[in-house]
Amino acid sequence: MDVDTVYAALQTIHDHIPTAQVHLTGGEPFLNLPLLLESVKIARQFGIPTRVETNAGWCTHPGKVDDAFSILHEAGLGAVLISCTPFHAETIPLTRTLLAIDKALAIFGPHNVFVFLPEGIDQLLRFGTRSPVPLERFIETYGMDPAGFLLWEEFGLLSGGRAGYRLGHLVQRKPVDDFIGESCTREILFSPCLLFDLYENLIPGPCAGLSLGSWKHVHEISGRISTGSLPVLVKILVDAGPYGLFCFARDQYHYRPLPQGYAGKCHLCVDVRKYLKMQADFPELEPVDYYRYD
Ligand code: SF4
Repeated sequence: MDVDTVYAALQTIHDHIPTAQVHLTGGEPFLNLPLLLESVKIARQFGIPTRVETNAGWCTHPGKVDDAFSILHEAGLGAVLISCTPFHAETIPLTRTLLAIDKALAIFGPHNVFVFLPEGIDQLLRFGTRSPVPLERFIETYGMDPAGFLLWEEFGLLSGGRAGYRLGHLVQRKPVDDFIGESCTREILFSPCLLFDLYENLIPGPCAGLSLGSWKHVHEISGRISTGSLPVLVKILVDAGPYGLFCFARDQYHYRPLPQGYAGKCHLCVDVRKYLKMQADFPELEPVDYYRYD
């Protein structure tokens, strides 16, 4: 993302969603600190409260963390969310996460620092703080069932994206008919979180890879929602959930369900969407890279 895109996104939010707070996330926003700083300054000009999410991978030295958090705090950044999960621990030693928490607390204050998830610290401490912890080692140490519970229940893993494929063996998978009647109206139309991505897609919070249209035309999207004239796959998901999408793909494009079943409704949805992306041009299946890589 560049500064012009950030400006346009924040202006759209200011003009059309005046009560919004902006959560700056990535990727990893601290990989481009100048852009992050500029984003916070622009948001402040528009009067939009901000917080940033970081994986703390860049927190290699106390002075570096102090400097970065201090300039952002002075520029108007309101809060920091620090990720602490077995997934982040795969590449980031816990010592960096703890350093980020320590410095953020000192600069932003305890009410403005959030750790996701705080219990992740205890879960990871048994592996030591100096080295990353491969997920296989985490699962092996805790055992399949307890690890499945920690990841799927306690962490609240959604089955979309890669989760259903890579970690579906840690939960009981269900056949496609078990998803009859599951609706996505709430997630798509009433999501408390909307993603403004760098390609201008407006994406409902839990539905990666499903675009409602360009956030530059958010007022038109909101008009289409009220008249029910949504993109075809979005409309199916709102009206009939992922089972409805399955029926559409089966009847129109010969999709066949996975014989091993699905880890959850979003796993079914993503598997069908990946298939449909290969069959025809559905503009709501964006960004394209979401479908290009496993
Ligand atoms: S099933 Fe699909 S549309 Fe429904 S919440 Fe999951 S990803 Fe979003």
